[in-house]
Amino acid sequence: MRAQVFYGPGDLRDERVPVPTPGPGEVVLRVDAALTCGTDVKTLRRGHPVMIPHVPTVFGHEFAGRVAAVGAGVRAVREGDHAVAANSAPCRACRSCQAGRPNLCEDLLFVNGAYGEFIALPARLVAVNLVRLQSTTPASRAAFAEPLACALGGVERARVDGGQSVVVFGHGPLGCLLAMVAAARKARVILVGKGGWRLERVRSLGIAEVLDATAAPDIVADLRAATGGRGADVTIDATGRPEVWQQAMDAVGRGGSVVFFGGCAPGTTVSVDTRRAHYEELTLLGAFHHTPDLIRRAVELLEANVVEPDPLVTHRMGLGGVREGLELMAGGKALKVLIEP
Ligand SMILES: [Zn+2]
Ligand SMILES: [Zn+2]
Repeated sequence: MRAQVFYGPGDLRDERVPVPTPGPGEVVLRVDAALTCGTDVKTLRRGHPVMIPHVPTVFGHEFAGRVAAVGAGVRAVREGDHAVAANSAPCRACRSCQAGRPNLCEDLLFVNGAYGEFIALPARLVAVNLVRLQSTTPASRAAFAEPLACALGGVERARVDGGQSVVVFGHGPLGCLLAMVAAARKARVILVGKGGWRLERVRSLGIAEVLDATAAPDIVADLRAATGGRGADVTIDATGRPEVWQQAMDAVGRGGSVVFFGGCAPGTTVSVDTRRAHYEELTLLGAFHHTPDLIRRAVELLEANVVEPDPLVTHRMGLGGVREGLELMAGGKALKVLIEP
């Protein structure tokens, strides 16, 4: 089969590799749709010791397809079933898993291989994070399950509810998904991004009110003005930049919650206004990754058309287009590229 194989930073090769066969408990999926992700861009540039501990490996981690073969003992799916899998599986045994926080599992098993015609899913992933789809669900939509589950996790951390004001910083795919999830909960959503065609695209989707941070000398003041002077009930950073984390704290109102969703570069710090944190009872929340429960709920939202992320796909390509797709992402010229192997 054809696959895009990652050998290390900057080294992605278009190769022919054997079609995997499933061992006991394993499933082989025919990949019908894979999506590029900002993480792929970062990983291709500098590697990723957590998500990709061993090379070479077939690249890519957001995908959906049809079951091509099942190993001994697999009961959850049958050949021909449409299915989507997460890109990781928790161990269910460590302290974090036992405490009901499997996204923080100390032994998360990561799976890569979306950019190939077939992908082998290990037994642990099949057991906890493989979800059967309705046969009518397009694979291109189902492939959003993983990033949507992350967004759902971020919104849940702040317990976003109807009628609240929610500010999302970041106009990338995750910023958009966070805005869509918050809007689906009937919150009033303001999305802050950098002016350009991507922000215009987001504006045209009508998911949220949109503010251009580059056109505003004081975006925090604008956000406070837009929320009756009080500040937002919830702010969420989806940029991974410390200066924006700071803005997220500055733009939240009394009793509000700040969600640090975007991961910043190692070693960076932000400062907290101690007076506000104390007297205004600010809640500062980290949000990382997803859980088996969030993956299932993301699939439900996609299949019930509650969240419709399809317009975030700006380009479609075959397997040979992966490198170009990632370059488009890196250059800010694409939101999500759909790869159809
Ligand atoms: Zn991703
Ligand atoms: Zn664990």
